[in-house]
Amino acid sequence: MKAAVLESAPGDLVVVDDVEHDAVGPREVLVQTGAAGVCHSDLHYMQGKYRTRMPTVVGHEAAGVVLEVGSDVTYVKPGDHVVTCLSVFCGTCEFCTSGRMVLCAKRGTRRGRGEPQRLKRAGADISQFLDVSAFAERMLVHENAVAKITKDIPLDRAALLGCGVTTGLGAVFRTARLRPGSTVAVIGAGGVGLNVIQGALLAGAGRIIAVDQSAAKGELARSFGATDFVDASAGDSVAQIRELTGDGVDYSFEAIGLKPTTEQAFAMLRPGGVATVVGMIPLGTSIEIPGVDFMYEKKIQGSLMGSNQFRTDMPRYADLYLQGRLKLDELVSARISLDEVNSAFEEMQRGSVARSVIVFD
Ligand SMILES: [Zn+2]
Ligand SMILES: [Zn+2]
Repeated sequence: MKAAVLESAPGDLVVVDDVEHDAVGPREVLVQTGAAGVCHSDLHYMQGKYRTRMPTVVGHEAAGVVLEVGSDVTYVKPGDHVVTCLSVFCGTCEFCTSGRMVLCAKRGTRRGRGEPQRLKRAGADISQFLDVSAFAERMLVHENAVAKITKDIPLDRAALLGCGVTTGLGAVFRTARLRPGSTVAVIGAGGVGLNVIQGALLAGAGRIIAVDQSAAKGELARSFGATDFVDASAGDSVAQIRELTGDGVDYSFEAIGLKPTTEQAFAMLRPGGVATVVGMIPLGTSIEIPGVDFMYEKKIQGSLMGSNQFRTDMPRYADLYLQGRLKLDELVSARISLDEVNSAFEEMQRGSVARSVIVFD
């Protein structure tokens, strides 16, 4: 099958047509990929900022149609539409059974070392990226890496639920548990940041301040629910937030993954406020925050994939979209073929797009 392979990092993807998947195991699902989003996290691995085993087929935000299921699978059947999620869960560990599946160690959800791997090329193993490997015509995944969704939502929109939407909305609903009426700042109005903004709107935030380096993002951020826009290129964003709010915000969200913006997210809190870090901060980076702020009960916390419970969350998000309450159409800035994937990452680095989505025939 056709797939985009990453041989080494830093490096570009190579689109080839001779990647093979193994036969479907008892608890596995084979999915015909309908669409896959081009996510910033893929780029982190391609640039070597995060490490993964090579060669690999990247991509992790996808939706498709079930082609075949293993002998023990009862959750889905061929023909069902599913969204894949990298938060594959074992279902039996303490994290899973206490509702924090994103922290699962994923035991038993991957092929063992001695077993044939899920993906191969020219007889050699290809590592499965984040348990999904979505930039391929088919995905062979563990059954607990898919959420069943209604066929009413188009696959190119549904794909976005697989990472960007779930990460953004989940950070608001599940990690921060935002209280209605509160004041929010969102640093970074890209694919994830826009979803934090619309999540804050859905959760009933009073004031939603979007912060971005690019003044051009202001209009887009407002259309997703931001009430104010702070142009970070026009001066200290913390000072600008204080000017707008007086004493800072109740909740801040960092959706870029950088040291200075993470420190700003904490600095812009009012007493009792909570900073939630959604962005992927490069390995080896330390964050410095003033210790005295703990005297004011300020908090900072991480959010992994929006602390999701994706089999519950994704069908609900699909419903919100179908009711016209969740913006997905507006998130897709370009529909491309797999062959154009490298140029989509170049576009992303120029900061010009919300989301490119690869559409498979
Ligand atoms: Zn588990
Ligand atoms: Zn992602």
